[in-house]
Amino acid sequence: MRCPFCQFRDSKVTDSRANDEGIRRRRECISCGERFTTVEAVQFSTVQILKRDGRREEFSREKILRGLRAACAKRNISVAQLEVIVGDIEARVTGDGRPEVPAQVVGELAMDALRRLDHIAYIRFASVYRSFTDIESLKEAVEALEQGRIPTAEERDLQLSLPEVPEPEYRGPRLVQGAEARRLAESVS
Ligand SMILES: [Zn+2]
Repeated sequence: MRCPFCQFRDSKVTDSRANDEGIRRRRECISCGERFTTVEAVQFSTVQILKRDGRREEFSREKILRGLRAACAKRNISVAQLEVIVGDIEARVTGDGRPEVPAQVVGELAMDALRRLDHIAYIRFASVYRSFTDIESLKEAVEALEQGRIPTAEERDLQLSLPEVPEPEYRGPRLVQGAEARRLAESVS
Protein backbone atom coordinates (compact mmCIF):
# COMPACT_ATOMS: atom_id res chain seq x y z
CA MET A 1 0.00 0.00 0.00
CA ARG A 2 1.66 3.21 -1.17
CA CYS A 3 1.29 6.43 0.78
CA PRO A 4 -1.46 8.45 -0.98
CA PHE A 5 0.40 11.67 -0.18
CA CYS A 6 3.98 10.98 -1.23
CA GLN A 7 3.70 7.50 -2.85
CA PHE A 8 6.29 6.04 -0.47
CA ARG A 9 5.81 2.28 -0.42
CA ASP A 10 6.00 1.59 3.29
CA SER A 11 3.85 2.61 6.21
CA LYS A 12 3.47 1.53 9.78
CA VAL A 13 0.18 0.41 11.22
CA THR A 14 -0.80 2.43 14.26
CA ASP A 15 -4.17 0.84 14.88
CA SER A 16 -6.00 -2.18 13.55
CA ARG A 17 -9.60 -3.19 14.11
CA ALA A 18 -11.94 -5.66 12.56
CA ASN A 19 -15.52 -4.74 11.69
CA ASP A 20 -18.17 -6.09 9.33
CA GLU A 21 -16.42 -4.67 6.30
CA GLY A 22 -13.08 -6.23 7.09
CA ILE A 23 -9.98 -5.01 8.85
CA ARG A 24 -9.56 -1.30 9.22
CA ARG A 25 -6.01 -0.09 9.72
CA ARG A 26 -4.73 3.33 10.61
CA ARG A 27 -1.39 3.80 8.93
CA GLU A 28 1.36 6.33 9.17
CA CYS A 29 3.72 6.94 6.26
CA ILE A 30 7.32 6.21 7.23
CA SER A 31 8.58 8.86 4.84
CA CYS A 32 6.28 11.89 5.17
CA GLY A 33 4.45 11.02 8.41
CA GLU A 34 0.97 11.57 6.95
CA ARG A 35 -1.75 9.32 8.29
CA PHE A 36 -4.34 7.42 6.29
CA THR A 37 -6.81 4.59 6.69
CA THR A 38 -7.14 1.37 4.72
CA VAL A 39 -9.72 -1.38 4.78
CA GLU A 40 -8.85 -4.94 3.89
CA ALA A 41 -11.63 -7.35 3.12
CA VAL A 42 -11.19 -10.89 4.31
CA GLN A 43 -10.53 -12.98 1.25
CA PHE A 44 -11.15 -16.68 0.98
CA SER A 45 -8.87 -18.18 -1.57
CA THR A 46 -10.80 -19.80 -4.37
CA VAL A 47 -7.95 -20.15 -6.79
CA GLN A 48 -7.76 -23.55 -8.44
CA ILE A 49 -4.49 -25.40 -8.61
CA LEU A 50 -3.95 -27.03 -11.97
CA LYS A 51 -2.12 -30.31 -11.49
CA ARG A 52 0.21 -31.96 -13.95
CA ASP A 53 -2.32 -34.65 -14.81
CA GLY A 54 -4.83 -31.96 -15.77
CA ARG A 55 -6.99 -32.23 -12.66
CA ARG A 56 -7.80 -29.17 -10.60
CA GLU A 57 -8.10 -28.80 -6.88
CA GLU A 58 -8.78 -25.92 -4.57
CA PHE A 59 -5.72 -24.13 -3.20
CA SER A 60 -5.07 -25.49 0.29
CA ARG A 61 -2.85 -23.88 2.91
CA GLU A 62 -2.98 -27.08 4.93
CA LYS A 63 -1.71 -29.20 2.10
CA ILE A 64 1.30 -26.95 1.51
CA LEU A 65 1.97 -26.76 5.24
CA ARG A 66 1.89 -30.56 5.48
CA GLY A 67 4.47 -30.87 2.72
CA LEU A 68 6.71 -28.26 4.31
CA ARG A 69 6.44 -29.83 7.75
CA ALA A 70 7.38 -33.23 6.41
CA ALA A 71 10.44 -31.73 4.72
CA CYS A 72 11.40 -29.86 7.90
CA ALA A 73 11.00 -32.76 10.34
CA LYS A 74 13.69 -32.65 13.05
CA ARG A 75 15.16 -29.46 11.59
CA ASN A 76 15.28 -26.41 13.80
CA ILE A 77 12.37 -24.69 12.04
CA SER A 78 9.22 -23.52 13.79
CA VAL A 79 5.68 -23.94 12.53
CA ALA A 80 5.46 -20.14 12.68
CA GLN A 81 8.27 -19.88 10.11
CA LEU A 82 6.45 -22.32 7.87
CA GLU A 83 3.19 -20.41 8.31
CA VAL A 84 4.97 -17.32 7.01
CA ILE A 85 6.11 -19.23 3.93
CA VAL A 86 2.60 -20.56 3.31
CA GLY A 87 1.19 -17.06 3.75
CA ASP A 88 3.67 -15.70 1.20
CA ILE A 89 2.80 -18.44 -1.26
CA GLU A 90 -0.92 -17.83 -0.77
CA ALA A 91 -0.45 -14.10 -1.31
CA ARG A 92 1.54 -14.72 -4.49
CA VAL A 93 -0.94 -17.25 -5.83
CA THR A 94 -4.22 -15.57 -4.91
CA GLY A 95 -3.04 -11.95 -4.91
CA ASP A 96 -4.09 -10.88 -8.37
CA GLY A 97 -7.30 -12.81 -8.76
CA ARG A 98 -6.15 -15.48 -11.16
CA PRO A 99 -8.71 -18.26 -11.46
CA GLU A 100 -6.07 -20.97 -11.62
CA VAL A 101 -2.37 -21.47 -11.12
CA PRO A 102 -0.23 -24.44 -12.19
CA ALA A 103 0.81 -26.68 -9.28
CA GLN A 104 4.36 -26.28 -10.54
CA VAL A 105 4.34 -22.62 -9.55
CA VAL A 106 3.29 -23.48 -6.00
CA GLY A 107 5.96 -26.16 -5.76
CA GLU A 108 8.68 -23.87 -7.08
CA LEU A 109 7.72 -21.08 -4.68
CA ALA A 110 7.87 -23.53 -1.78
CA MET A 111 11.28 -24.78 -2.88
CA ASP A 112 12.59 -21.24 -3.21
CA ALA A 113 11.51 -20.43 0.31
CA LEU A 114 12.94 -23.64 1.78
CA ARG A 115 16.24 -23.14 0.01
CA ARG A 116 16.64 -19.82 1.77
CA LEU A 117 15.65 -21.34 5.10
CA ASP A 118 17.33 -24.73 5.36
CA HIS A 119 19.28 -26.70 2.78
CA ILE A 120 18.44 -30.12 4.20
CA ALA A 121 14.72 -29.31 4.18
CA TYR A 122 15.09 -28.01 0.64
CA ILE A 123 16.71 -31.20 -0.60
CA ARG A 124 14.06 -33.32 1.12
CA PHE A 125 11.24 -31.29 -0.40
CA ALA A 126 12.88 -31.26 -3.83
CA SER A 127 13.43 -35.01 -3.73
CA VAL A 128 9.71 -35.59 -3.23
CA TYR A 129 8.53 -32.79 -5.48
CA ARG A 130 10.90 -33.47 -8.34
CA SER A 131 10.62 -37.21 -7.65
CA PHE A 132 14.32 -38.00 -7.73
CA THR A 133 14.39 -41.57 -8.95
CA ASP A 134 18.07 -42.27 -8.49
CA ILE A 135 21.07 -41.15 -6.52
CA GLU A 136 22.42 -39.24 -9.53
CA SER A 137 19.56 -36.75 -9.66
CA LEU A 138 19.90 -36.25 -5.91
CA LYS A 139 23.62 -35.65 -6.32
CA GLU A 140 22.97 -33.14 -9.08
CA ALA A 141 20.53 -31.23 -6.91
CA VAL A 142 22.98 -31.11 -4.00
CA GLU A 143 25.81 -29.95 -6.27
CA ALA A 144 23.65 -27.25 -7.83
CA LEU A 145 22.78 -26.10 -4.32
CA GLU A 146 26.41 -26.06 -3.18
CA GLN A 147 27.50 -24.13 -6.23
CA GLY A 148 24.66 -21.65 -5.82
CA ARG A 149 23.47 -22.13 -9.35
CA ILE A 150 19.79 -22.62 -8.72
CA PRO A 151 17.87 -19.65 -10.08
CA THR A 152 15.04 -18.28 -7.96
CA ALA A 153 11.45 -18.38 -9.16
CA GLU A 154 11.82 -14.71 -10.08
CA GLU A 155 14.94 -15.33 -12.08
CA ARG A 156 13.20 -18.10 -13.94
CA ASP A 157 10.41 -15.61 -14.54
CA LEU A 158 7.71 -17.97 -13.36
CA GLN A 159 5.15 -15.21 -13.75
CA LEU A 160 5.38 -15.75 -17.49
CA SER A 161 4.12 -19.28 -17.11
CA LEU A 162 1.02 -18.11 -15.29
CA PRO A 163 -2.09 -17.95 -17.45
CA GLU A 164 -3.38 -14.54 -18.42
CA VAL A 165 -6.45 -13.28 -16.63
CA PRO A 166 -8.89 -10.64 -17.77
CA GLU A 167 -8.81 -7.49 -15.62
CA PRO A 168 -8.43 -8.88 -12.08
CA GLU A 169 -10.63 -7.30 -9.45
CA TYR A 170 -8.80 -5.27 -6.86
CA ARG A 171 -8.22 -7.21 -3.65
CA GLY A 172 -5.47 -5.41 -1.77
CA PRO A 173 -5.80 -2.77 0.92
CA ARG A 174 -8.09 0.04 -0.19
CA LEU A 175 -7.73 3.64 0.85
CA VAL A 176 -10.81 5.14 2.49
CA GLN A 177 -11.34 8.88 2.55
CA GLY A 178 -13.89 11.54 3.33
CA ALA A 179 -17.32 10.54 4.57
CA GLU A 180 -16.54 6.83 4.51
CA ALA A 181 -13.45 7.33 6.66
CA ARG A 182 -15.44 9.41 9.16
CA ARG A 183 -18.19 6.80 9.30
CA LEU A 184 -15.62 4.04 9.88
CA ALA A 185 -13.91 6.07 12.59
CA GLU A 186 -17.25 6.50 14.32
CA SER A 187 -18.18 2.85 13.96
CA VAL A 188 -15.13 1.67 15.89
CA SER A 189 -14.81 4.39 18.54
ZN1 LIG B 1 4.00 9.66 2.65
